[in-house]
Amino acid sequence: MMRFFGVAFMNHRVRSRSAVTAGVLGSVLLAGIAVSALLGTIGPDSDPTTADASSAVPALISEANAFSITAPDGAPASVQTKAVKVERGDTLMKLLTRNDIDRRDAHAAISALSEVYDPRRMQIGQLFELSLADSAAETAGPNLVSLSFKADPVRSIQVRLTDDGDYQAEVKEKALKRADGFGAGTIKSSLYEAAMDADIPAAVLHDMIRIFSFDVDFQRDIQPGDKFEVLYDEHATEEGAVVRVGEIRYAAMTLSGKELAYYQYTPKSGITDYFNPQGQSVRKTLMRTPINGARLSSGFGKRKHPILGYTKMHRGTDFAAPTGTPIMAAGDGVVDFIGRNGAYGKYIRIRHNSSYKTAYAHMSGFKRGLKQGDRVKQGDTIGYVGTTGRSTGPHLHYEVLENGKQRNPMSVKLPAGEKLEGQDLKRFAASLPALQQRIAVARGEGQFLAQD
Ligand SMILES: [Zn+2]
Repeated sequence: MMRFFGVAFMNHRVRSRSAVTAGVLGSVLLAGIAVSALLGTIGPDSDPTTADASSAVPALISEANAFSITAPDGAPASVQTKAVKVERGDTLMKLLTRNDIDRRDAHAAISALSEVYDPRRMQIGQLFELSLADSAAETAGPNLVSLSFKADPVRSIQVRLTDDGDYQAEVKEKALKRADGFGAGTIKSSLYEAAMDADIPAAVLHDMIRIFSFDVDFQRDIQPGDKFEVLYDEHATEEGAVVRVGEIRYAAMTLSGKELAYYQYTPKSGITDYFNPQGQSVRKTLMRTPINGARLSSGFGKRKHPILGYTKMHRGTDFAAPTGTPIMAAGDGVVDFIGRNGAYGKYIRIRHNSSYKTAYAHMSGFKRGLKQGDRVKQGDTIGYVGTTGRSTGPHLHYEVLENGKQRNPMSVKLPAGEKLEGQDLKRFAASLPALQQRIAVARGEGQFLAQD
């Protein structure tokens, strides 16, 4: 059974000579547009390189794939091409047999396809283009000449009948080009919401929070009216479809009027990091928010008054977050204590250097396998938010200990990270104008043109 809207037949003859140059067709081939549709029926006398690009091309087929159909040697005299749509409940086998393809051939084609693509990933509405030997010319050979489709915005796949009578799968990948992605916003209720409103991809937001987690207490420092912006890599197809996002090149937050701006740079050490315009690394010895900031509870009205939060009785900072939220090591160090610790519940303490330790309490569990004496790197997951010990709800209780005494993690002066010097500082400073230019363009401020 075939539904009219799901099927488009291509059964027109290719006009043998036309004004379209091979060069133009070549670029059409590269762009992957409508190529196979141009060659709807291939007779022995037709020359694919002179196909008429102005032939009526149903959109269904042009969307289906980037392969041109050429008749294999010894193929039947005429090949018919049609696009079929995956319907609810379809398997590829169902789809092929519904289109009069022999079960054995369908099976052989599917097993060839399975080497490069899991057919269970196909989705309702996805298009497959089938090239079938004309029923009139049907003889002993398989009638499925080829099957092609777009697996995703980047990959097109074709399974075709070879001269040997087997099926073989071929994958074509589109070249991606890098572009600047940019997002900016003003926080009304939460950073997360404002970032989503600005269409910032979740992965970029996550990285951005990570960058600022050294400076910012995401539960207390964010106020309505605070601003942020971020410049990041996007990898897009020729047609402009963003396939994936890459690294952050620049990120800034303006918190209560104070701006923090960081630029990506790779110093001679080879370790790419983020630096403020003076060349100071964003990295501090310890993080102020050793937890995924996006998952922190963020209702401004419900926030504890900072003074009430830091009474003498409470010698740490609480971050309310859902049970299971990963907790990170605030800095490089060695696990000093891991286990149950009275009112603290499940508790970890890390020794960072001779004067600083950090502690994490009320966890639901520890990172599997983590034990006393293990080395941890800053940002490593060490455990998960919970409410063990004397706790009223899921939260991380975080302490910074200086020479054994609890200090307020938010006000303690943490040792700074790397500062660029010498050649590194010069190269970094020299790299800023180009990056700032890109930021200006992304903001829509246009290019700064030299004026007389
Ligand atoms: Zn606490």
